[in-house]
Amino acid sequence: TTDIKGKQSGGRLGLNVKNIIAVGAGKGGVGKSTVAASLAYSLKQFGARVGLVDADVYGPSIPHLVGTSEKPMAQEFQGKDGQTMTRIVPVEANGLKVMSMAFFVEPDQAVIWRGPMLHKAITQFLQDTEWGELDYLIIDMPPGTGDVSLTLSQLLELAGAVIVCSPQQVALLDAVKAVQMFRQVKIPVLGIIENMSGEVFGQGGAQAKGEELEIPFLGEIPMNAEIRIKSDSGNISQLVEDDSEAQAHLLKVAENV
Ligand code: ADP
Repeated sequence: TTDIKGKQSGGRLGLNVKNIIAVGAGKGGVGKSTVAASLAYSLKQFGARVGLVDADVYGPSIPHLVGTSEKPMAQEFQGKDGQTMTRIVPVEANGLKVMSMAFFVEPDQAVIWRGPMLHKAITQFLQDTEWGELDYLIIDMPPGTGDVSLTLSQLLELAGAVIVCSPQQVALLDAVKAVQMFRQVKIPVLGIIENMSGEVFGQGGAQAKGEELEIPFLGEIPMNAEIRIKSDSGNISQLVEDDSEAQAHLLKVAENV
């Protein structure tokens, strides 16, 4: 995998990250978080330094998917000007640096965010977190709405967004909206990934939609029991480490991204 733009995209926030990639979807339940986490682990498997931000503030599931119950710590750091400042140290889960809204709310607590609060939380995840040097920062976006995308596009230069969708027609219609939403806030769309393809939901719809929208097709991930079991039990990292049909598809998608 090569750097998409090869430039430091976190400049304005003092982030030292080469490529920031948002993972979006038009609606919930298409496997966006599963794909975001497995993309992060695949890139790590290729030797990259990777962080994962769970910006799906309405249903933050990343800590569950990567199997961590740790909380991030606050730590004092010395700034360039010699002043000390308190920064958040992301949680590490199988070598992946992770930040999530789930770390800061009680489980089962409904999160009601207004625009400005959302903006502040996302800014803290990026600006006040000690990510260190990263090759990739993957951002798991909330489905559908444009709030977080707008914030991100104001704060950072993203390499782009990938859209996850399932093959059914309804899901594809929502994916079109997601593409338009990213285009509206001037985040380039890198491509579309079809998840859960196979007998149940069908196959090939995302590729056709991608062609229609003139965005690259990044591959398909089959509906697969192994993926469901490993993600529900917090073992996504194993999905890309152990030889399996799922692994082949997940690594291929990451290669295409
Ligand atoms: P989203 O983030 O889009 O809401 P999740 O990533 O939380 O979706 O996935 C929803 C459910 O679907 C989870 O139980 C997950 O394990 C399952 N899932 C995701 N992708 C697949 C797949 N390719 N095959 C089987 N189950 C999957």
